[in-house]
Amino acid sequence: MKKALIIGVNGQDGSYLSDLLLEKDYEVHGIIRRSSSPTLARVRHIVDNCEFDERFFLHFGDLSDALSLIKVIEEVRPDEIYNLAAQSQVYVSFDIPEYTGDVSALGVTRLLEAINISQIKTKYFQACSSEIFGKPSETPQNENTRLNPVNPYGVSKLYAYLMTSVYRSTYGMFNCSGILYNHESPRRAENFVTRKITKSIAKILTKKQDFLYLGNIESKRDWGFAKDYVEAMWLMLQQDKPDDYIIASGQTYSVKDFLVEAFSLVNLDWQKYVKFDQRLLRPKGDFSLFVGDASKARKVLNWKPKTSFKEIVRLMLEADLKSEGVSL
Ligand code: NAP
Repeated sequence: MKKALIIGVNGQDGSYLSDLLLEKDYEVHGIIRRSSSPTLARVRHIVDNCEFDERFFLHFGDLSDALSLIKVIEEVRPDEIYNLAAQSQVYVSFDIPEYTGDVSALGVTRLLEAINISQIKTKYFQACSSEIFGKPSETPQNENTRLNPVNPYGVSKLYAYLMTSVYRSTYGMFNCSGILYNHESPRRAENFVTRKITKSIAKILTKKQDFLYLGNIESKRDWGFAKDYVEAMWLMLQQDKPDDYIIASGQTYSVKDFLVEAFSLVNLDWQKYVKFDQRLLRPKGDFSLFVGDASKARKVLNWKPKTSFKEIVRLMLEADLKSEGVSL
């Protein structure tokens, strides 16, 4: 039985990756941080399922604490390690740039060193981001597009990307980076715009909320489905050779497109409920047009996104309506 270690196991992607690996008969270990309030909602269905008692384990640890990483890696000796943990929000990275760098950049060095010190043979996946292209020099972007991050989050992910590659070439480690474009799901954190929209619609329908406040609704994104993207992560570690891949849908939609689609599913006119809030604009503007060219992943990994934009909107809305006791 293969063993996997997921850092960020209780995040959106970590929870879907856990589902996938358990389905594939892995023993799954996850690192979680100590918190004063519960953070296991996204893996609750696994934790509470006694079928997984012998195959799903949680360990306390933190990317800012090298010893905790060494301890878990030496104890578990995983065949595969997936680092999905990060301070993952761009606008927050302007408020806490030092912390963002400590966790999302230096944390990767701590992890790679922990693997080296433990002297285990393992395969390593690093979650990187389209934000490493910053203001992209070309559209769509591919694995050779110029790297030019424009916010602290993007800089931290570029550091992570480069260190993952340096440890691959220097120590011969089986390291892969996924340059991930936006991916959503019903498990997306509530402070991301897509989830904010679907959650608000559910609250508007149940009269718990009157309006939805948003920033730049013309902002465009290459949106995929998280469940499809974790499959690409797994596929990268099943190859004979380690490499880096763009993981993207290749299509862009605006926040307005998302609004129109989501509100139309409940027969409401979005313009009656959406209000502009200047404070929600990105601090340094939002001028990047991220569109990924995932043809390398398509060719080498035989991966392609399965879930359409419309399906993503529907799945997210259905889940939020359900939690408010409403059905579509
Ligand atoms: P997410 O839902 O925000 O999950 C982040 C995870 O990282 C959480 O489990 C969080 O734990 C954990 N974490 C944060 N700081 C940590 C620390 N110091 N030590 C250990 N764990 C820590 O993010 P996601 O959407 O699943 O994304 C997964 C990865 O892909 C991230 O690295 C993200 O930057 C990257 N990415 C995501 C997207 C996207 O659209 N989703 C796009 C590009 C790249 P807590 O619950 O304790 O906070």
